[in-house]
Amino acid sequence: MSGLVVALLGLVGLFVGAAVWVVSTAQAGRRPLWSGPACGTKDCGAGLPAVGWLPIVGFLAARRCPACGAAQPAKRLGFELAVAGYFALAAARFDDPRALAAVLVFAVPLLVVLLVDWWTRLIHLETIYAGLALAVAFALADGPKTLLEAVLTAVGAVLMFAFFFVLAALIYRNVKVVPFGIGDVYLAALIAAMVLYPNVISALFLGMFLAAVGSVVLLATKRVGRRDPIPYGPYLCAGALVVLVLGGG
Ligand SMILES: [Zn+2]
Repeated sequence: MSGLVVALLGLVGLFVGAAVWVVSTAQAGRRPLWSGPACGTKDCGAGLPAVGWLPIVGFLAARRCPACGAAQPAKRLGFELAVAGYFALAAARFDDPRALAAVLVFAVPLLVVLLVDWWTRLIHLETIYAGLALAVAFALADGPKTLLEAVLTAVGAVLMFAFFFVLAALIYRNVKVVPFGIGDVYLAALIAAMVLYPNVISALFLGMFLAAVGSVVLLATKRVGRRDPIPYGPYLCAGALVVLVLGGG
């Protein structure tokens, strides 16, 4: 895509990043997804001004929670900029409008799962279903062969992750502390339907590699204890996002 499109999509990414943050905060707080900007502090959830939907300005204008006084985390700005960078990178790499649209659209549910799982260690099925619907829609637009490919890849990923889940449960002897949750199995299916075979292999293995590196860093910096479960979902999402934007093109 041309430099102008790259810049424009980078700007769109900034807005998408802000909206993803707002929606994820709502889902993490178990409020309706479109209930609008709210305080992310646990047990607060007070509404923030609607300007909170906007990138940067929203963060600055709706900085303090009127109820509990907590400041919105500055990480929100970093997240918005990262999403802007991702959109611009995708625009620079893809010339085919439909392939580009797929990457940008798929990024949204993956980013929601990434944030919500990171904050709460929960993967919500409504996000998985929304993502699967998008994956099916793009596969259908490509033709019945791609749709069949998406379904088969998803089934394969579920089988692989279900196997890991059982294996981990046997090793850890306690389903509550295994590093894999059922949510991760659903997430693997979603990623598979989005990136298709053979990209699914690099996406899931990159995710597991990032998770291993992430847990070593979190343990070394004592941000988590040895017995704490580490959420896998955010790393799987990150792996999928990388493979989506670097694959094809
Ligand atoms: Zn608050």
